[in-house]
Amino acid sequence: MATYKAPVEDYLFVLHDVLRIQELDRLPGFSDLTPELTRPVLEGVARFCEDVWQPLNRIGDEEGCRLENGAVRTPTGFAEAYRLYCEAGWNKLSAPEEFGGAGLPGLIGIAAGEISVGSNAALSLYSGLTNAALATLHVTGSPWMIEHVMPKLVDGVWTGTMCLTEPHCGTDLRLMKTKAAEQPDGSFKITGTKIFISGGDHDLSDNIIHLVLAKLPNAEGKYTDDLSTVNFFLVSKSHIDPETGRLSHRNGVAVAGVEKKMGLKGNATCVLNFDEAVAYRLGGNQSGGKSSSAAGMSGMFLMMNRARLGTGIAALGVSEAAYQNSADYARERIAGKSEKGSTKPHAIVSYPDVRRMLIKQRSFNEGARALGTWVSLLIDTQRCSPDTEERKRCGELAQLLTPIIKAYFSDGAFNGTNAAVQIYGGHGYIRDNGVEQFVRDSRIYQIYEGANGVQAFDLVTRKLAGEGANGFASLLAEIRNVAAECDRDGLREYSEPLLAARDVLTRAVDWVGAKADHKSPYDVAAASYDIMNIFGAVVIGLMWARMAHVANSKLKLSEGDPEFLNRKLVLARYWMQRELPMTHGLFERATLGADGMMDLADVAL
Ligand SMILES: Cc1cc2nc3c(=O)[nH]c(=O)nc-3n(C[C@H](O)[C@H](O)[C@H](O)COP(=O)(O)OP(=O)(O)OC[C@H]3O[C@@H](n4cnc5c(N)ncnc54)[C@H](O)[C@@H]3O)c2cc1C
Repeated sequence: MATYKAPVEDYLFVLHDVLRIQELDRLPGFSDLTPELTRPVLEGVARFCEDVWQPLNRIGDEEGCRLENGAVRTPTGFAEAYRLYCEAGWNKLSAPEEFGGAGLPGLIGIAAGEISVGSNAALSLYSGLTNAALATLHVTGSPWMIEHVMPKLVDGVWTGTMCLTEPHCGTDLRLMKTKAAEQPDGSFKITGTKIFISGGDHDLSDNIIHLVLAKLPNAEGKYTDDLSTVNFFLVSKSHIDPETGRLSHRNGVAVAGVEKKMGLKGNATCVLNFDEAVAYRLGGNQSGGKSSSAAGMSGMFLMMNRARLGTGIAALGVSEAAYQNSADYARERIAGKSEKGSTKPHAIVSYPDVRRMLIKQRSFNEGARALGTWVSLLIDTQRCSPDTEERKRCGELAQLLTPIIKAYFSDGAFNGTNAAVQIYGGHGYIRDNGVEQFVRDSRIYQIYEGANGVQAFDLVTRKLAGEGANGFASLLAEIRNVAAECDRDGLREYSEPLLAARDVLTRAVDWVGAKADHKSPYDVAAASYDIMNIFGAVVIGLMWARMAHVANSKLKLSEGDPEFLNRKLVLARYWMQRELPMTHGLFERATLGADGMMDLADVAL
């Protein structure tokens, strides 16, 4: 049976030694963030998740969710474990205090989020999506939603969903058919079918707030494929009285089915039928009461960006759990003899090929954790810094790095879970040991919230154009600064490979820029995945250089745990020596453009 130990010490290192959040007291909400505060918070959520959520991970996978008399039942123990999680306040660490949250910066919520997913990915998705819905309502909700809906979502007694996908479209939302019709009182009625809705129905909460994309008719009263007709709405499972916030009868939303799927079985993936469901358009908060399509859609993009970051962090959570189990197994599993002539049996952990997999898993996970936490800090800074210029710079960097977190983390996590099965051998492929569940659970992260190929294309086109160019310039400056710090301390073994990979990245971005004339329309699209992977390797390399520098400084001062710090130096060296050089090959392939890829006819592929 799989086990899980939350990476609390690693988070404390990233938060306090690398990012030094305790010194950022110019940012509102950061002044109390000393290790004396963060340690008990992270240890508390860790203990809860290890003891209460993790034992249900396997049960959720075995039982899945089922539809009974029009309502979804979650696996045994899920409802109670969810209730206890919310009662302890672990769901609302970063929710605003005015609505009953703990008001801690988002990066603490992200750390707790990874821990929750690592212990039970399916169960954590219910509150993960609720938090994304919460952030969206905060900026786009009408005053009555802010007053009556927000506190319920913060408490977790109501949950949230995100309803975008339809049977014939997931990526290209212009094709959606769900319709909204405005009513004389200013509300709307929504009709249509949404599929694959995570947490679309369940028995964990009293009510569910669906955030739904639907189309309004154009001026001629027709529904078209024009993206500008797509609007964002709130649909409550049960009617809410906007005056009092009280729930009454059921709204016109019915669960038509629960998908049987590859992984994340404890999370109900639902088909939802909306039949003239009462809906309220989002976008009222920003425009002073009157909702607007543009404001609502900007809320949807906010939600999707939150969800993309959350997806990358979730992937990391599963990857960490898989790594821990495979490392423990490798230390115990006896196979072969250690040296020629020796009769002493030894564990598979001593084989270089097993070590190749383990060190890659660990170096990826810890590098990704540092990067995800840094990007969360950028988002917090963008939200609350008193310095306009800093807010802008952090926002641009976060925008650039978000698709990388979504795609590079989910690919790396899936590879890590796959390596875990390899390390277990046949004992990984069978169900008893629980590692094959990690492979199945993590697979979805590469698909939802925009498939990874879509993220890669978004990165090399939209995220590098316009203000994205500023984000890229800031990233290069950050690399230069970190490399210079390493150089000053004689740590060239970290700075030189980082700078070499940075040059590869710059050449790749220049190549994209030179293709901007679109003479070869497929070249950039064909190169985008490789360029996304160059970005991913470089930004994790950046974090490893930062961590190596910090670890080295602490060792020189005889501060901290030398075993922990020396391990950081080894893991950083691994990334520099064995992952960053891969960028050269990726560059060669990327800059071939679409040559050879588009030659076969569709039917010949
Ligand atoms: C378990 C689960 C949970 C989900 N939860 C939710 C949820 O809560 N809410 C919700 O709204 N949806 C949810 N989804 C839906 C998910 O977001 C979609 O499946 C996903 O966006 C892909 O859409 P699609 O399946 O229609 O694939 P398509 O859009 O048909 O794409 C298929 C494949 O084609 C490729 N592709 C498509 N378009 C492009 C492009 N422009 N560029 C490059 N490649 C492309 C990609 O490889 C993609 O994987 C969930 C799905 C699953 C399986």
